Amino acid sequence: MPVKITGYETHDVRFPTSLTGDGTDAMNTDCDYSSAYVTLKTSSDLVGYGMTFTIGRGNDIVCMAIRELAHRLVGKDVEDLFANMGKTWDYLCSDSQLRWIGPEKGVIHIAFGAVDNALWDMYARSRNKPLWKLIVDMTPEEVISATAFRYITDAITPTEALAMLKAKEGTKAEREATVREKGYPAYVTSAGWLGYTDEKVARLMREAVAQGFNHFKMKVGANRDSDLRRGKIIRSIIDDPQYLPAGTAPRDPNGPDLRGKNAGPTGSVLMIDANQVWDVPQAIEYVKSLEEIKPWFIEEPTAPDDILGHAAIRKALKPHGIGVATGEHAHNRMVFKQLLQAEAIDVCQVDSCRLAGVSEVLSVLLMAAKFGVPVCPHAGGVGLCEYVIHLSLIDYIAISGTMERNVLEFADHLHEHFLYPASINRNGRYNVPSNPAEGYSIEMRQSSIAEYEWPHGSYWVNSPKKSQ
Ligand SMILES: [Mg+2]
Repeated sequence: MPVKITGYETHDVRFPTSLTGDGTDAMNTDCDYSSAYVTLKTSSDLVGYGMTFTIGRGNDIVCMAIRELAHRLVGKDVEDLFANMGKTWDYLCSDSQLRWIGPEKGVIHIAFGAVDNALWDMYARSRNKPLWKLIVDMTPEEVISATAFRYITDAITPTEALAMLKAKEGTKAEREATVREKGYPAYVTSAGWLGYTDEKVARLMREAVAQGFNHFKMKVGANRDSDLRRGKIIRSIIDDPQYLPAGTAPRDPNGPDLRGKNAGPTGSVLMIDANQVWDVPQAIEYVKSLEEIKPWFIEEPTAPDDILGHAAIRKALKPHGIGVATGEHAHNRMVFKQLLQAEAIDVCQVDSCRLAGVSEVLSVLLMAAKFGVPVCPHAGGVGLCEYVIHLSLIDYIAISGTMERNVLEFADHLHEHFLYPASINRNGRYNVPSNPAEGYSIEMRQSSIAEYEWPHGSYWVNSPKKSQ
């Protein structure tokens, strides 16, 4: 009996993070980290879970869009969908009426991310593999057929991409063994939120260094003097060998893994993130004035759609040794294509659910590898760490083949709500998800949904309504 998709369920789940200042930056001052969550159901006990991330109000609108898209899958044979995930992606993208309210951007596109990810989760579960393993075990031809190529063939053709994958195919097993043993390099964001006091930042930085992290991110852009002060506090901790975990030798700041990253004497790297607050000339002046704290890159210096603006900022900051990163609000593969073509970025910060799911992420991973730009996915939010470790493993094992220069964001919030939470090992690196039942690792605990579903979950019924 073929297994068919029979229905779907959405949940608008909101966590009251605005009460603690978690997630605060120069643009986003009162985030309630939220999940627009979907369960795809089938005629068997196979299910698929997916979500996209928002920061509160509007999460209900995304859930509505998810239902519109998920409805298109009802009645479909799951094996037909899995057999060509690229074609499935095109089908989901091609409802002409829903397309009009994008196309391929905004609410409808992030909703598409939740649905595509839920299908991939279901596919991985059906094969008893975590998602990353499902994909790295595919043949290069299968990966190509699962990728969204429309509108990017001027930057990369399926034939070129196939050749890249084939060139890496023979050594996949070695890289898989390496990363299973060592874990995937991570950096920490949750010590540097803008809403935290200097004392809290200093304490969290000391803790992060002791945990083995050596890349750190700080939010900037609200006040230059305060940014400089906080940056110096952070540098005074991460550059001081006394805080390194016992028995850890400082890393060579000029070694191959750190070259060009403005690393301090212990090999620590500092990144700064402005969350889009500046105009282009302002961004250049402001970031130049922070040269003293030696950032590797400025993340999201200006509007996320401004490809040429990013290119101008990158060119102006290059003589100062500071790079440019962006991507968490790059709404589709065409924006990434242009960022790469315009040489506007040093680091590609792909987002797992702002893009329309795994099939579109694959197209960006392939383009970034072709252009030689490292991928450091965005993960500051709920559920994003759970997702992105899979993407970085796919990138390392099957696509780019590089890991030690990359770092994957880690924000230490809200992992307890997931059945298969992301975790960090003793060396400050992500553990490799290895439970065959975990799919894309995004299944949320039923008790968390019951507590935090907006507006009738037990937390929201009994608490001040921060998300209203
Ligand atoms: Mg950011």
